Amino acid sequence: MTRPTGWGLIGASNVAREWIIDAIRAQPGGEVRAVLSSDEARGAAFAQAHGIASHTTSLQALLSRPDIDAVYISTNNSLHREQTIAAARAGKHVMCEKPLALSVEDATDMVQACNHARVVLATNHHLRNAATHIAMHGMIEDGRIGGLIAARVFHANFLAAALQGWRVNDQGGGVILDSTIHDIDTLRFLFDADPTSVFCMTQSGRLARDGIADGIMAVLRFPGDVLVQIHGGYTVPYAPGGIEIMGERGMIIGRDCMSQRPIGSVAVRTSDGEHEIQLKHHNLYHRAFELFTAAIHGGGRPAATGEDGVASLAIALALRESARTGREIGIKLP
Ligand code: NDP
Repeated sequence: MTRPTGWGLIGASNVAREWIIDAIRAQPGGEVRAVLSSDEARGAAFAQAHGIASHTTSLQALLSRPDIDAVYISTNNSLHREQTIAAARAGKHVMCEKPLALSVEDATDMVQACNHARVVLATNHHLRNAATHIAMHGMIEDGRIGGLIAARVFHANFLAAALQGWRVNDQGGGVILDSTIHDIDTLRFLFDADPTSVFCMTQSGRLARDGIADGIMAVLRFPGDVLVQIHGGYTVPYAPGGIEIMGERGMIIGRDCMSQRPIGSVAVRTSDGEHEIQLKHHNLYHRAFELFTAAIHGGGRPAATGEDGVASLAIALALRESARTGREIGIKLP
């Protein structure tokens, strides 16, 4: 029998509107029961537009509802910590947006609060759920291209006008914490490893203000002397996204695979020539919420856990530190 899962949305956000309400409702028994907005009128309009029965401006009111089992947090990044800890204390499971917080200490507090309350904490690093990345992970694991040597990640695009708010004018934004953090998490997923050190240079001023990065180039060193290069940005209109992974016996080429949409292709190039891998695409967010729902009902784990969120944040902050100091930064994970 399907177990109902009652959800509260914390944040009347664009990502909730565009992807998450649908992903929750795609789960058997998944119901969005309330939305929290700091603004009464915005919350009311959001609830009405999306057929959500209830809205509130009070976090405590939302968290005290017994018909809410889990919350999805997609407020401004500076609010994630306080809202996650409050939800954990109220016994609610938490799917939190990335970056989990703005400091490793805050993110670690969130993981500890959820562990203490025995609720599931997941980080919405959606790219781990893409059919493309799952296929690439499998091929690396199977040794299809031999020992890894290097990789290149291409994840630069032009930020839509509607998104040119906190991402380009708030120190809690910038391309590293907003977008490159997904690349970092994807690499951690693909390689089943964390980088040991990073180096990064940033650009600013084409779209972002006050030194906030709107473009980056970074180099990450992974165990086994594997070097990875990332190009990320908000200011490049026509660049395709992708990942190339180079091994001793071949190369994996992921094209158009850094998208929120279920698109892209994967090819492998070896002494046999280049062959496209057959993929069955699925909605990335549906899979994230499917795994999360199973985890809260006692089966398995989310695609990206709270601990994954902490590690990917720590590495993203090391990129920022490298850009600030001009130094290579060693990675120390909590
Ligand atoms: P939004 O800017 O749409 O929403 C963030 C907050 O801004 C909302 O909680 C809302 O506050 C407030 N807000 C929304 N609309 C308005 C408005 N018209 N005027 C004033 N305030 C407004 O953010 P995003 O949806 O782009 O991002 C939210 C979170 O999700 C971030 O942490 C981001 O990093 C993450 N994200 C993750 C993605 C993924 O694929 N994993 C994709 C996109 C974003 P209130 O709730 O109080 O109404």
